[in-house]
Amino acid sequence: MNGAPLPAGSMIGIIGGGQLGRMLAMAAARLGYRLTVLDPDAGCPAAQVASEIIVASYDDVGALGRLAKSCDVVTYEFENVPVEPVRAAIGVALLYPPAEALEVAQDRVVEKAFLNGIDVETAEWRAVDSIEELGHALLDLGGDCILKTRRFGYDGKGQAIIRPNGPYADAFESLGSVPSILEKKVPFAYECSVIAARGTDGAVIAYDPAENVHSLGILRRSTVPGRVSPGVAEAAKAIAARIAERLGYVGVIGVEFFVLADDSLRVNEIAPRVHNSGHWTEAACAVSQFDQHVRAIAGLPLGDPVRHSDCVMENLIGDEIGRVAELLAEPETVVHLYGKAAARPGRKMGHFTRLARR
Ligand code: ADP
Ligand code: MG
Repeated sequence: MNGAPLPAGSMIGIIGGGQLGRMLAMAAARLGYRLTVLDPDAGCPAAQVASEIIVASYDDVGALGRLAKSCDVVTYEFENVPVEPVRAAIGVALLYPPAEALEVAQDRVVEKAFLNGIDVETAEWRAVDSIEELGHALLDLGGDCILKTRRFGYDGKGQAIIRPNGPYADAFESLGSVPSILEKKVPFAYECSVIAARGTDGAVIAYDPAENVHSLGILRRSTVPGRVSPGVAEAAKAIAARIAERLGYVGVIGVEFFVLADDSLRVNEIAPRVHNSGHWTEAACAVSQFDQHVRAIAGLPLGDPVRHSDCVMENLIGDEIGRVAELLAEPETVVHLYGKAAARPGRKMGHFTRLARR
């Protein structure tokens, strides 16, 4: 689609109906589009706000085919969408971001090789397929290391820390003895992320980075600008733009960074979708990451990523949902809930953003 933008009333398909799909659906509706969600759960957060839902598993080629047929463009809200069924089914509609972005982001070895191949620095790493290879890789890298499964990790799951000279066979087995990657631990000063978007015409925008704090592998807080200096911000945005360009990307991409004490950057990972650390944009910018994603995949001009306020976004996890009444009473705080019934431990129930006008 390098021609006309998607007309109002067109149908956008989204694979995955969690909170990211829900927020995309709300942004799509604001721009006059209808939205069909494909999710195995009829009661998923996005179903409450979408026009249509197809209840099916993500690898159901028939259901993906029905989604493609009824939609003008198809997108996704998570990176573990099975690539082969999607490739087989999505012919009549367009898939944005492209399947190549999924392939890169789904496998930590492919991802790191891609990044290093375009001169983007990462942690030092080795692919590891057996306990024996893990032993060699540990000797090679030295120091504290983190073993991660190549695929399906999220929120810190599928990871094990290995200390120098510590036992390692258990670590490999505890992750299921599956193809893995060993990363040298990066002694970062802090973590940040850039949310960027690329349009069908190749235009790229990037928001200023957020400083991110994780706890138990889950994002707790994103602060903008936080500790990120203007120099680090410019460098991080340039790297995010390079990644989007080299992937022939269309849509919003999240790029997570480690920032070292000398302000040098290492990319941790990329997410081919809207990202939790970009939720602040809905409260502090005229055009949110969700709006940008819809604009990008619909062939509309991207919006200005400037913010009117500095801010702090925090997730409401599990029973923290109980803080809502108190948060609603605060001036300059934007509260966003995901419509999930059960507040299980570790489950993201919502988020809020506290604004500080500039
Ligand atoms: P996930 O897919 O679960 O987000 P990440 O690879 O982003 O997995 O790891 C989660 C967190 O663990 C990171 O945000 C960072 O705090 C820490 N971490 C991961 N890899 C490294 C590394 N090589 N060095 C230092 N910290 C790391
Ligand atoms: Mg991460």
